[in-house]
Amino acid sequence: MPRREFPRKVRAAAFLRANGACEKCGARLKVGEGEVDHVLPDALGGEPVLSNAKVLCRPCHAAKSADDVRRVRKSDRQRDRHIGAIRPACTIKSRGFPKAERRREPGEKERQLRALRERQHERQG
Ligand SMILES: [Zn+2]
Repeated sequence: MPRREFPRKVRAAAFLRANGACEKCGARLKVGEGEVDHVLPDALGGEPVLSNAKVLCRPCHAAKSADDVRRVRKSDRQRDRHIGAIRPACTIKSRGFPKAERRREPGEKERQLRALRERQHERQG
């Protein structure tokens, strides 16, 4: 599926909403500096609509895009694993940890309960 860019009207509305500043870090943008970002990436089903658009400065957009690439790759891997295109990695069989008996001091549980109740009481007022 081809990438769906934001229509001109949506871009214009996004820039008006941003009012000359990056919508993430608030940096002032000069004319032509802002970039319209897909909040939810196009590859993950993000629609090219105003609610999915954010005007970002170049550094914010670069960071966001790098993150998006990771998210899209992960989603691709999950889909491929789900449809059986990739085999799950071999799992390591281990004996696990021995079930150790935890020794409680007499009255320990009561003390913990009392401390918990006191904390809840402090929070309420
Ligand atoms: Zn920014």
